[in-house]
Parts: sequence; structure tokens; C-alpha cells
Amino acid sequence: MNHFDYVNGQLQAEQVPVAEIAAQVGTPFYCYSTATLVRHYTVFTQALAEAGLYAQVCFALKANPNVAVVRTFAQLGAGADVVSEGELRRALAAGVPVDRIVFSGVGKTEAELTFAVAKGIMQINVESEPELEALSKIATARGIRMPIAIRVNPDVDAGTHAKITTGKKENKFGIEWTRAHEVYTKARALPGIEVVGIACHIGSQLTDVEPFRQAFLRVRDLVAMLRADGFHIRRLDLGGGLGIPYESEEPPHPAVYAKAIKDTLGDLGCKIVLEPGRLLVGNAGILVSRVIYVKEGATRTFLITDAAMNDLMRPALYEAHHTIEPVIEPAKDAPRLPVDVVGPVCETGDTFAKQRSLPPIQAGDLIVLRTAGAYGAAMSSTYNTRPLVPEVLVKDNGFAVVRARPSFDDMLALESLPDWL
Ligand SMILES: *Cc1c(COP(=O)(O)O)cnc(C)c1O
Repeated sequence: MNHFDYVNGQLQAEQVPVAEIAAQVGTPFYCYSTATLVRHYTVFTQALAEAGLYAQVCFALKANPNVAVVRTFAQLGAGADVVSEGELRRALAAGVPVDRIVFSGVGKTEAELTFAVAKGIMQINVESEPELEALSKIATARGIRMPIAIRVNPDVDAGTHAKITTGKKENKFGIEWTRAHEVYTKARALPGIEVVGIACHIGSQLTDVEPFRQAFLRVRDLVAMLRADGFHIRRLDLGGGLGIPYESEEPPHPAVYAKAIKDTLGDLGCKIVLEPGRLLVGNAGILVSRVIYVKEGATRTFLITDAAMNDLMRPALYEAHHTIEPVIEPAKDAPRLPVDVVGPVCETGDTFAKQRSLPPIQAGDLIVLRTAGAYGAAMSSTYNTRPLVPEVLVKDNGFAVVRARPSFDDMLALESLPDWL
């Protein structure tokens, strides 16, 4: 469910014609819908509440770190899951209360840990023994004990793309669950550490609830083991990862996911922390682009767009599918012909779709790539000296540019010549 629909033959974001934004902002740009962000957050939190779970949702900033997007969620009561000092600063700038911020990630530096401890965030999810020791030193120097969860790797196959699977024992994430007890025991002996819970995140874009259930059952076993040993486990951070429909996937509804949590962990008296990213923002964003040329190749037709792999990496990185549509609604009986939709970057990987069946589209037409709100702008780069793509947030019948397109002068100003040139 989203708020990008054709109205009188024109694609609108809520009540704003996408073409109108394009005329003012230029292409390419990302466009987010506030109503869709709010709807996804509400559906998710209601599902948790209806399952009777005591839960805090911490939006995973890495899916879409735009400050306006984060503030939209913060105003609804969301916390934040951050993976760097930069994201932590963004969460604070967006107004997320410190006591709703969780810090995850395999490689937090001493500077990052120091910053997080100084701010007094809710919890740090520790992923290794050296990190545990570094954190203990930092916290001890400030005379405090930092609340932590240890991220355990439950060794379940999330059944998702290899590049976004994180919960198998050969992945770099977390502590193997068979060693978890030993590491918890070490943590307890450290003066700057206060063990409060267990963290677990098995991957992204899961379209089946079963791997979650298996992981949660392992977490359950670990709670029992740790409690028997005198640990006061009171928070379970179950990560993110619930998938969304890009093409024909049918991911479990949040109610089914909430029930899996309730069934496996609901009786333990723990506060549940969840870190959804993609689920909250994916369908709430589109990438709007203009077709520069239509090129008839020897065997196929190419639509060459002014958006490229640097603006939206997912197809090049994960062979991801994004639905492509023209901004002007095609006639119901318009013929559909297979075309390749490609960007201008000098890489064969700069391909958004191969042999995609599309209605007639001419040079100069606007198109949109749907479901681009997660891991879209967040992963964009300036490859080929293409300015970072701007971001627009729509609300009802208005919109605002929430990240401006840098000028070429802005981009060049970051570089300097050494004195020998
Ligand atoms: C990426 C990530 C998330 C969010 O994943 P989604 O698939 O976007 O929901 C949550 N927690 C951690 C630790 C992550 O690395």
C-alpha cells in the first residue's frame, strides 16, 4: 500500500503531480510520501500492540537516513537503530530521544563508542569480544556501566540474497550462538558493562516467517540459559529484516511476524526492540527520472535515463527488481514491448531492467522506479561526477526538498591541489 497513484492520467505523490515536482526540482530525484511512511509505521506498531507485545520500534536509519524521514518517524514515537557516529548524529538532529537509540555494527571505532557513551544512548549491541573490552574501558573512564546486548548469530538461513544474509555462522556478524554463553560470562566480569539483553538480526528482505521463528527460538533458549546463570535479561532486540513486495514476493504481514514473536518470546517478560528499515520506507519512495534517448540497438531497444546506478545501486548490486512506470498513465490497451532501461554510466551493470515489458515511452518522458525508498538515496554516490540525487518529501498537497542537489562547484570545492601542482 502506498500513495503514488494515477489521478486523471497523471502519476501523483499524494495530491501532488510528480511532473510538477520534476518541473521545479529537475530530474533525477527521490520522492517520499509522508502518508505512506506514517501508514507503514502505524500498521507495524499496531500489529505489535495487537499481539500484546511490549515493544519499541527503532527505525534502522541506514535504509533511509534523511533527517526529515527520521523526524517523521520520531514524531510518531520511533527510536533509531544506528550503525555509525554519523547516523547517531543524524538521529539526534532529527529529534530521536537518546533513550530510544540503539547502536549496532561490527566495527565501531573507539571514537564512535566514546561518542555513544557520552550521549547516554539506550543500548549498544556488541558484536565481538575486543569491542566488549574497548567499550568497558571507555565506560569505566566515565565512571559508568554501559547497557549492552550481545548480538548473537543464530546460524539460520534467512533464504534471502547472499549479499543481505547476516545470520549464518560464516557471516561476519555477531557471536556464534554456541559461544554466546561464554562471551556473556566475560561481559559480566567487565567493570564498564551492564548486560541487559540479547540482540539478533538475521538478514534483510525476508519473505518467509520461518527463519525468524527459528532464530527467535534460539534466542529463547539463550534467555533460559543466561537467566539460569543469574543474568538479568530484560530486553530482546530482534533486528529488522521483514521483506516487502518489489515484484511478486508475498512477505508475511506484520501481524504474522508479531505473532511469531509472541509465540516464541512473548511469555518471557522482556521488552522487545525491533529495528525495521526497509519495511517502513521501501514503498514510501520512488525515483523519478527522465528518458534522455531511446536507442534502437541491433537486437533490442534501450531507454537511456538520466538516473543511473550511482543514484540507485540496488539493481547493479543485488539484481534487484524495481517496477518501472511512465508518469503519464498509458492507455489500458497500449502495446507493451520489451526494452532495456539503462543509465548513462560507463558500466554494463548500469542497467535498471532488462527486456522489461513497457508501454510506449519517448525521449523526454518522465518515468518512475517504484519501491525505491529503502537503500536508494542512502547508497547513492557521485560516481562519474554526477551530483547526489536530491530528495523530496511530499505531504498532502505540498512538498519540500529535504536534500538539495549539490552544485558542481560544491562538489569541486571538496578537492584541492597540492602545492607541487
Ligand atoms: C540493516 C539492519 C537493519 C534493518 O534491516 P531491514 O532489512 O532494512 O529491515 C536492522 N538491524 C541491523 C543490525 C541491520 O544491520
